[in-house]
Amino acid sequence: MKYNFLQKQTSRRGMLRDSAALAGSAFLAHLLPATLLRASAAGYAQQAPSAADLVASMRAKFNAAPIQTQKVADNLTMFSGPGGSVVVLNGPDGKFVVDTFVAPAWPRLKKALDSIDNAPVKYVIDTHWHFDHTDNNAPLHATGATVLAHENTKQRMSEPHVQPVLYRGPDGALHDLHFDASPAEALPQQTFAASYKLQANGETLLLQHLAPAHTDTDIYVHFQKANVIQMGDTFFNGMYPYIDPGTGGKIDGMIAAADTILSLARNDTKIVAGHGPLGNKADLTKSRDMLVTARDRVQKLKSAGKSAQEAVAEKPFADLDPVWGKGIINGDQFVQVLYLAL
Ligand SMILES: [Zn+2]
Repeated sequence: MKYNFLQKQTSRRGMLRDSAALAGSAFLAHLLPATLLRASAAGYAQQAPSAADLVASMRAKFNAAPIQTQKVADNLTMFSGPGGSVVVLNGPDGKFVVDTFVAPAWPRLKKALDSIDNAPVKYVIDTHWHFDHTDNNAPLHATGATVLAHENTKQRMSEPHVQPVLYRGPDGALHDLHFDASPAEALPQQTFAASYKLQANGETLLLQHLAPAHTDTDIYVHFQKANVIQMGDTFFNGMYPYIDPGTGGKIDGMIAAADTILSLARNDTKIVAGHGPLGNKADLTKSRDMLVTARDRVQKLKSAGKSAQEAVAEKPFADLDPVWGKGIINGDQFVQVLYLAL
């Protein structure tokens, strides 16, 4: 069985290893960003790291996290770690897996899935098109699973894209990430436009598209019997969210998505964030209120004619950063992201 996608990653990592050896640095798989820093500090390569290097570094950053397992209902398990949250519904009808971690985590994801039971994966559901949620579509499809997603996810995966200021280097410098179109074997085999319902293992899964929020491909998955809602990246629990303006992301949509789920959830509903710990209505409310505050502050700066860099220099989130700025993106990145996503 061949996975061109994974092979590409391997060869990229191999190239990085070679260049690190040339620079006389010890190579550690989990320290790709540090490798890039050392190479540049040594003056080995004056030019900026290549687009492929940056994407490989971002994957390596995510992949450094261990997989943590948490049971959220009788036949529902949440894995968190190498690229956000994965939820697995298991039972006699096979496994239904929502989101898939980054490509280098595949052997660990497979092991974690096998540790639940030996039933095959019947469906993979993507909450949106991003690599840290869809990277393992191809190997899961190769085991016999059907990949199901919103039609925009298939469309966006089929095109190259730039995600602005997503990667923060070890020297603090911010970089855009450039993604190639995904290979055919990674694309969803089945898509829907508005909503889709699946019945399996005694559970009803309602998949519902949201108006453009984190991207224009976002869905939430409501496990109705278990009373669990998985929001994908329309919810980052306890940290600033990334919003992807390159594929339709909008701050107002993020706030609207939170409002939609808050109106749907009960006080005891478990809410799975795309990144961060398992949450509930109180967590989502706090995140929503922070988004409103942050949006209003950046809107004010932009309306006053400040550039994105001038807005960053104003440090408008100085009071928010200690609570929200320790996750995937920091306050400076969030100012720039909001500037593009207003
Ligand atoms: Zn995302």
